[in-house]
Amino acid sequence: MKNQISILGAGLIGSLLGIYLKKKGLETSIYEKRKDWRQNHTSSEGRSINMALSFRGWKALEKAGVKEKVEPFTIPMYGRRIHDEHGTTYCQPYGKDNEAIYSISRNVLNGILLDEAEKAGVNMYFEHTVEDVDVHQNVVTFSLPDQEKKQLDASVIIGSDGAFSSLRNAMQRQTRFNFSQQYISHGYKELTIPATDEGEFAMDPNALHIWPRGNFMLIALPNIDKSFTCTLFLPFEDSIVSFDKIRDDLDVIHIFQTYFNDAYQLMPNLTSEYSTNPTASLVNTECYPWTVNSCLLIGDAAHAIVPFYGQGMNCGFEDCYILNGLIEKYGTFSWDLVFEKFQKSRKPDTDAICQLAMDNFKEMSDSVSDPKFLIRKKIEAKLHELFPQEWVPLYSMVTFSDIKYSEAYAQGKIQAAVLDKVMSDPLIAQKWKNLDYHAILNKVETSKAV
Ligand SMILES: Cc1cc2nc3c(=O)[nH]c(=O)nc-3n(C[C@H](O)[C@H](O)[C@H](O)COP(=O)(O)OP(=O)(O)OC[C@H]3O[C@@H](n4cnc5c(N)ncnc54)[C@H](O)[C@@H]3O)c2cc1C
Repeated sequence: MKNQISILGAGLIGSLLGIYLKKKGLETSIYEKRKDWRQNHTSSEGRSINMALSFRGWKALEKAGVKEKVEPFTIPMYGRRIHDEHGTTYCQPYGKDNEAIYSISRNVLNGILLDEAEKAGVNMYFEHTVEDVDVHQNVVTFSLPDQEKKQLDASVIIGSDGAFSSLRNAMQRQTRFNFSQQYISHGYKELTIPATDEGEFAMDPNALHIWPRGNFMLIALPNIDKSFTCTLFLPFEDSIVSFDKIRDDLDVIHIFQTYFNDAYQLMPNLTSEYSTNPTASLVNTECYPWTVNSCLLIGDAAHAIVPFYGQGMNCGFEDCYILNGLIEKYGTFSWDLVFEKFQKSRKPDTDAICQLAMDNFKEMSDSVSDPKFLIRKKIEAKLHELFPQEWVPLYSMVTFSDIKYSEAYAQGKIQAAVLDKVMSDPLIAQKWKNLDYHAILNKVETSKAV
């Protein structure tokens, strides 16, 4: 009884966690409100249908023994391919050598994880919507199809039921539970660039394409069927280009011809997709504590992150990896202890990545097209090449390493302050190749010592 685990939500994080826990020999069940969608390949509720998987995610998948299952369905993206307003493109590498982030369909990845969870022996219950959780008695109330209700006495409950978690709602009724939710000014809509008539990719498949336009942008990630999923990020209102200004097909065409004309030429279904696909909002949520009694929040339920660092899923996968490590260390005699250790050690890191993701919108939508930003990136790349251990760019720390997010954040701040000074030289565009790179690195060391 003590080691019967009930996971709420069979999204990316719940299904990976199910694999981890079952492999520990724990009796594990997952309850999911949706029908089993693996047979009919519809998109997951208008959410982004492909995602960027990076180092932390891979590490967690490998530890769970599913990396090899996932690999064939991914496409490496070695850099950002920037599209300017005249249709000229250029590539900014993400890291060095073969460092890449990997595009994968959300549904395919979720399906693989669910299949593996089932194979491992996890009990799956679809069409079980959590209505409420009594976090003191450990009782979950579900609604089933046909208005039926069901109650479950659970010994350990883990909520991986996403940004609008029902377990978190129940926890919020406890005293001294902190919760904040911020909808950002921008929303998003998904669109498609299909494969060409010859069945080929219409653009370079090994890059994440960005059309940065200051306060708004379009991005595109490749799919294994040779299409691209595009995501249009716009403010909802109060801007020259915003969702509320686009009222009909002509407005859609006008915006795309004006700002994204090269993409527009590759989007035969633009207007119909624009009107059919939902406009979704983006939310950042933070809460604490993550555990009450024998209940725990994980993934987006504990920390929903805006997508501008491509880390929400990677961070949630890393949550599973870390929780698994704590179970290995402390055993399952005291879930309270494991959950307490988990929230204490992990919260500063998820706070850091939430903040970094909020900050990164400006970089993606604006700075990437600024010539000074390109020089800054080149200086950083040079520093990293000369001092691979001592200077690691913030993006690389977050994306290509498992340095704690909070350490990456702190180190990134120091490096940014040093680079701000370097970039303040009005002649930097001429001088950057011949800078005293040792002196720049020393400034970081001095700042750390202060
Ligand atoms: C536009 C966009 C792009 C993104 N791109 C990236 C990216 O490139 N890389 C990256 O790392 N992250 C990305 N993310 C973030 C990523 O999608 C999330 O962090 C990730 O999906 C979180 O997984 P989860 O399992 O915690 O929650 P979810 O994926 O939301 O899954 C929650 C599950 O719980 C179920 N559920 C909800 N309520 C109930 C209930 N009451 N009862 C039972 N079941 C319930 C849901 O049906 C769902 O299956 C992106 C997010 C967005 C919005």
